[in-house]
Amino acid sequence: MKLPSSNIAVEPSTVSATSTTRAAERAIKTSTDPEQLVDAARRLEGVFLNLVFEEMAKTVPQDGLYGHTPGMDMVQGWLRTELSERWAESGGVGVGDAIATQVGGEDAAFVVAIRSPQASFAPPVVGTVSSPYGIRAHPVVAGHELHEGVDIAVPVGTEVRSPFPGTITRVEDHPNLGRMVVVSHPAGYQTTYGHLSSATVEVGDPVSPGTIVGRSGESGRATGPHLHFSMYRDGESVDPSAWIPALGSVEDP
Ligand SMILES: [Zn+2]
Repeated sequence: MKLPSSNIAVEPSTVSATSTTRAAERAIKTSTDPEQLVDAARRLEGVFLNLVFEEMAKTVPQDGLYGHTPGMDMVQGWLRTELSERWAESGGVGVGDAIATQVGGEDAAFVVAIRSPQASFAPPVVGTVSSPYGIRAHPVVAGHELHEGVDIAVPVGTEVRSPFPGTITRVEDHPNLGRMVVVSHPAGYQTTYGHLSSATVEVGDPVSPGTIVGRSGESGRATGPHLHFSMYRDGESVDPSAWIPALGSVEDP
């Protein structure tokens, strides 16, 4: 069987590397969304990692490790591309993230931080998850609802902490969530803390990871003492257990 010549195998990957580079550079310059900015910068790093691997491969003696055929060149090209793309998508050596942070500042730095596989964020309180994020039977009225948060059963008066840095943007009495605090984080993220017995912050206060924002309670429409903790991105609710794994585990009934 005749395998394709190495020219045919190499040529398209060079063309696609160039177009990927151009598209990524354009996205880095024009993107107003920090998530897209980080994605684009990581794609750019993938292209560079691929080029580095290609140069490294040339230093392996042609008959040395595994002999040399055009087919082998092609397979190694695919492996290089897959490896560099996947590595860069998960943060690579950090060059893409550094570029994104330089361009996108605090917002991009926050996106990089919450996407890091090493990131571990402390839950707002340590307790039993009594109701996870998602569709559930409504606890107070008949029917089902999207539970836009996680309920964590804790004794009244437990210190409630923000897992992420940000600024206090709301402290109010909500008909359902009772005494509640809203923290705005970079990159369009917000967290809310409901059913508090008291808020210990004021609008405008800066927040670091671990800052106490209030004490837990059962104010508003609550069936018992617990914290209702929600997370939003650009106003859409998201499952906080994606970033705080402790909030994904539910007590056995
Ligand atoms: Zn709740």
